[in-house]
Amino acid sequence: RLYNEVQDLKGNIRVYCRIRPFLPGQSKKRTTVEYIGENGELVISNPSKPGKDSHRLFKFNKVFAPAATQEEVFLDTQPLIRSVLDGYNVCIFAYGQTGSGKTFTMSGPNISSKEDWGVNYRALNDLFQISQHRKSSISYEVGVQMVEIYNEQVRDLLSSDGPHKRLGIWSTTQPNGLAVPDASMHAVTSTEDVLELMNIGLMNRAVGATVLNERSSRSHSVLTVHVHGMDLKTSAVLRGNLHLVDLAGSERVDRSEVIGERLREAQHINKSLSALGDVIFSLSQKSQHVPFRNSKLTQVLQSSLGGQAKTLMFVQLNPDVDSYSETISTLKFAERVS
Ligand code: ADP
Ligand code: MG
Repeated sequence: RLYNEVQDLKGNIRVYCRIRPFLPGQSKKRTTVEYIGENGELVISNPSKPGKDSHRLFKFNKVFAPAATQEEVFLDTQPLIRSVLDGYNVCIFAYGQTGSGKTFTMSGPNISSKEDWGVNYRALNDLFQISQHRKSSISYEVGVQMVEIYNEQVRDLLSSDGPHKRLGIWSTTQPNGLAVPDASMHAVTSTEDVLELMNIGLMNRAVGATVLNERSSRSHSVLTVHVHGMDLKTSAVLRGNLHLVDLAGSERVDRSEVIGERLREAQHINKSLSALGDVIFSLSQKSQHVPFRNSKLTQVLQSSLGGQAKTLMFVQLNPDVDSYSETISTLKFAERVS
């Protein structure tokens, strides 16, 4: 095993907090971020209600300040990603309200510029580079699936039958005992292959949506990377998978203000995010019973949550004072699972 640092981590759940910068034109806004410590401390205050109770301290494995680059964030994620090549299952997801930087962290704002690449492109790029290095001793095959979970329905974003084909049997069991969504699997051998597939996935995600951003903030997207490695001398096989998840926005919706479809969406999001929280909480408590079956999201992610699997949550924050109450509720979610 090359990447022992992963095993040295305390527990299998890591939580990183990332604060996005103020966007151009927002510069005069007040911030809720009072202090960022070297060791993962974060102090949040409510500047519109000063007083002795207005400061709250949170603790993470790491906090990325607004100036942190995509590269810096990736470097702290890389060991986890590389452990997939050693047969681990890994789940990385971004949690936070809409506009807090989830997509920025996972995919990046702009696929065409390498510097902007988020965790998912960098992860695949890294896996390909390492498998290239090792190719005289280990032969790796990499397959990719991409699904969207919207209103508790799983859709294959890479299906040739069109994106709206609902997956009837959503789960099949692989030879290694892993359940995977019954979505089309695409063999990839280079980062270019991946970029092409993800463009198709993004386009399919937009079909039927009035505005791309609207729909994408109300569905979860899950990119699954399956790695199969065979030792050329001993023929021993290692399998690992990586789930890269851009969650639906966690913002609470005022029930008195939304009706119909919008309310239904909100209820589904709420249900699946609490199910995710419950699963991670019971894993962190080492409970006997882990409630995977309470949502499609936790069912799809099951193989990379718990057991030997490694989980990393990015807690995304918008520093704007107007987001104070959403920020606190995001931080409470994180506090419960860490
Ligand atoms: P979400 O996916 O959580 O709704 P986005 O990733 O779309 O949020 O981010 C909202 C806006 O903020 C986008 O314009 C995005 O480019 C910008 N943004 C987010 N995080 C950062 C960051 N770390 N640095 C610069 N801009 C960011
Ligand atoms: Mg987004």
